[in-house]
Amino acid sequence: MPGRTRSVLLGLEVKPAGKACNCKRNKAHRILKGEARLVVKNAGPASGENGYCATCGEAMLAEAQRRLSELMTTLRGSTPPVKPGA
Ligand SMILES: [Zn+2]
Repeated sequence: MPGRTRSVLLGLEVKPAGKACNCKRNKAHRILKGEARLVVKNAGPASGENGYCATCGEAMLAEAQRRLSELMTTLRGSTPPVKPGA
């Protein structure tokens, strides 16, 4: 049975800020309590998470999207390796 398609974006979440905080990318960006923010979980044992304001979050997601389509294009465009003896 085929498994579920593995999600590679496990570390991303959008949720309202539990309390007012600053954007991780730019301290001048204030995130108000209850305001939606992009939360990026850090990989590894020292797991924490960083919160980004909507503006920065949007830019980061756009960049991720660009990167994903780049990978998609590369994957689709790659020629299969020639098997020895074939
Ligand atoms: Zn920001």
